[in-house]
Amino acid sequence: MLLGDEAYAGATSYYKLVDAVRDVYGYEELIPTHQGRGAEHILSQLLITEGDVIPGNMYFTTTRYHQEAAGGRFVDVIVDEAHDTTSTFPFKGNIDLDKLRAVVDEVGADRVPYVSFETNVNMAGGQPASMENIKEVYEYCQAQGIAVMLDATRAVENAYFIQQREEGYKHKSVAEIVAEITQYSDGATVSSKKDNLVNIGGFLAVRDPRLAERAREMLVAFEGLHTYGGMAGRDMEALAVGVREMVATDDHVRARVGQVEYLGQKLIDEGVPVIRPIGGHGVFLVAGEILDHLDQDEFPAQALAASIYVNSGVRGMERGNVSAGRDPQTGENRRPKLELVRLTIPRRVYTQSHMDVVAESVIEVYENRETIGGLEFTYEPHSLRFFQARFRAV
Ligand SMILES: *Cc1c(COP(=O)(O)O)cnc(C)c1O
Repeated sequence: MLLGDEAYAGATSYYKLVDAVRDVYGYEELIPTHQGRGAEHILSQLLITEGDVIPGNMYFTTTRYHQEAAGGRFVDVIVDEAHDTTSTFPFKGNIDLDKLRAVVDEVGADRVPYVSFETNVNMAGGQPASMENIKEVYEYCQAQGIAVMLDATRAVENAYFIQQREEGYKHKSVAEIVAEITQYSDGATVSSKKDNLVNIGGFLAVRDPRLAERAREMLVAFEGLHTYGGMAGRDMEALAVGVREMVATDDHVRARVGQVEYLGQKLIDEGVPVIRPIGGHGVFLVAGEILDHLDQDEFPAQALAASIYVNSGVRGMERGNVSAGRDPQTGENRRPKLELVRLTIPRRVYTQSHMDVVAESVIEVYENRETIGGLEFTYEPHSLRFFQARFRAV
């Protein structure tokens, strides 16, 4: 960070980042943004027109927000296993080709600007897609003239699971597998706060120089000049290091996923319902089952997250009805199939002893689950309500 070049235009830190993204992800054109959502905003505004449909493998909150804000409609085409808390299918992040084809046949390929393909799907519990599936989706889309845009925020964790679980990848490095994943895409948005090992930043990366040109026109209006976008020189410098370091050896991601598995296994041993297989970035508690005495409109996942916080100060994240929001047409709560509390583990922050404390707290709350009541809003923001909502106990 001390090496960061803070020149307004043409900072050397920017060019280091361009090289790192090209070497690791294989995309030629880099548009640096302040975070992942800055990249999603630009991509959505450029490619989506009113009435378009964007198929994707389960929604992500900010991704869908920007798709809808651009006039698009998100359609979930993830495999059914992703919504099934009891399934141990190894690739719950896969896109169901039949569902995708049905959407394209219904609305026509010209109404589908791109497929939004997330690696290691966050909302499904940190679940990977297989290389076979990523390739198949890309080949189908190419034949239809539809772009594939990755949310490559967790491509490294996805690559690690491919190495561990998919036939033919045991002897490939995570770096090689990441490069192969991105090969089956036209571009990607990335939140650098995750795999990339830095505190802030993100980017849009594409192959098409004309699309990049249009993206840079938006970048200078919404983020900053094209050679820094939304980041300071020191942040780009750190990010260029992080992008290389995340795949420099396989040990880093193995240790990272291993720590998550350690926590997950402790909870499984005590009978706490969690999503299986255990995800790459966190352990997901099945709040709908743990608090099955609550109605979904009493926000069981939010109530469970609050109880764990009160118990120990461990802050988890609701991923259920609050995150899903209201249907823009009907105004009703969306009532998703999954009511989860995500215990996301930051990279390179905690020791196994910290994981022991987290497990102790969750187990204690689990044992006293009958005493936990529901919640109601005291403040409900109009959009992305999970970020700023306030509740009281019912
Ligand atoms: C965090 C995240 C985003 C949004 O990125 P920010 O950097 O928080 O704006 C988008 N997609 C996925 C999968 C994420 O995990």
